[in-house]
Amino acid sequence: MGLAKASEGQNKQQYSRLFKLESNKNVSVNMRVLWSNNGCDIKWDWLRRLRGRTIDEETELKNMILNYSKSAIQTDTWRWILAGSGQFTTKELTKLIDEDLFFRENSLIHDETLRNHLAPLKVEVFIWRLIRGRLPVRLELNKRAIDLHSVLCPLCDDYPESIDHVFFFCKSSYDLWDRVYKWWGFGVCLNLNTNDAFRGKSSSGLSIAEEQVWQVVEWTTAYFIWNNRNRKVFSNQDGVCANTLMEIQLKAYEWVTGRLRNKKIDWLCWLTDPKASIIDT
Ligand SMILES: [Zn+2]
Repeated sequence: MGLAKASEGQNKQQYSRLFKLESNKNVSVNMRVLWSNNGCDIKWDWLRRLRGRTIDEETELKNMILNYSKSAIQTDTWRWILAGSGQFTTKELTKLIDEDLFFRENSLIHDETLRNHLAPLKVEVFIWRLIRGRLPVRLELNKRAIDLHSVLCPLCDDYPESIDHVFFFCKSSYDLWDRVYKWWGFGVCLNLNTNDAFRGKSSSGLSIAEEQVWQVVEWTTAYFIWNNRNRKVFSNQDGVCANTLMEIQLKAYEWVTGRLRNKKIDWLCWLTDPKASIIDT
């Protein structure tokens, strides 16, 4: 006797008195229960009337079935267990695949230059996709034979949209990098390309802590350029604007300060002299 075949033996022993009184020794508990959306109805067929401890056993078994019924009904839905919400979305799936590829790739090549504990994982993954040419800029989509009405950059409409173009050479992006570099006191913005720009190497004599924070700033800048580019493509809203530098300052500050150990950033100093703003606690 059991809720299901797999647990038959266990229930036969656990409710041995009831089992002796069962008219059909081959029946399973499940066959005695009529399941419905509202719960279940149990139809026993005992050899004689229950009394004494068999009544207790029956009550216990009945409660167990009712509890099982409740939990079965409550959980009888499809849940996407890889997401906290339980909801499946292609966006969530893409994110998981990218994270998985990212970790495998990183464990293979041990590319520490693309790991920075001050940045959120989603930003590390984003930068990894950028460097690997895995962002859907129009030239990349065109290479994959996806039919597009234009391969020109959606921001300037003058040049084919490659990753290098959209992140560095498109005028609004170049101007933004220039402002970010000036904010950090680096003067001119030189030699920008995907491989050098995001690996945390600078020749500006930064300390290790400053280099780590600067790398997050570079990554945040790229992240905003891409978000703005997408806003233009999908909502036709203006891309990089005057507020973008402030948005980068805010977001990078938020990401870094939440993850810094034994150091903190002075907010007011951050806006004017970011290198001096990183102080020991
Ligand atoms: Zn452009």
